[in-house]
Amino acid sequence: MDLRKYIRDIPDFPEKGIIFRDITPLLRNPEAFKLAIDELSRKVENLDFDLIVAPEARGFIFGGALSYKLNKGFIPVRKPGKLPFTVISEKYLLEYGTAELQMHVDAIEKGQKVIIFDDVLATGGTAKALKSLVEKSGGEVVAMVFLIELTYLNPRNILANENIISLIEL
Ligand code: 5GP
Repeated sequence: MDLRKYIRDIPDFPEKGIIFRDITPLLRNPEAFKLAIDELSRKVENLDFDLIVAPEARGFIFGGALSYKLNKGFIPVRKPGKLPFTVISEKYLLEYGTAELQMHVDAIEKGQKVIIFDDVLATGGTAKALKSLVEKSGGEVVAMVFLIELTYLNPRNILANENIISLIEL
């Protein structure tokens, strides 16, 4: 089964000139979704880590399933104003515009090993912001894991020295 067949290109979303990779066809197909989770977990199951950190909204879908399958804790990272307890924040640049992400201040204990997960690695700005949040908490990023890596945006340039693992390269 080729998972690429379940990723739909949407031109000019959310802005003109951006090709958005829509993963909802993959999610609605049970075999494709299961294969994606199984293959992602195979890529990380031998790593030593405690937690999976993922941003809303699509990061929650895969990150939650991966956490369950690998028996790891899940840390949600959210847009401002959503988390109820004291937060730490990080502002960052997106492929389209700027954004800010927040995480609970006590989500990660000092020295805990963490995997960052997101559905798509585009410019790498989000992954970099996630890493900053983890490190502000005293955690250590063991790997950055993605369903899709958009290699033509060269995200590895701003993520030098990271252990980047992606399932599908576009
Ligand atoms: P970056 O910060 O690497 O430029 O963008 C990655 C973030 O934007 C991820 O949180 C990802 O969900 C979202 N994103 C950017 N481009 C796309 C895309 O083409 N498809 C999807 N599904 N998400 C995208």
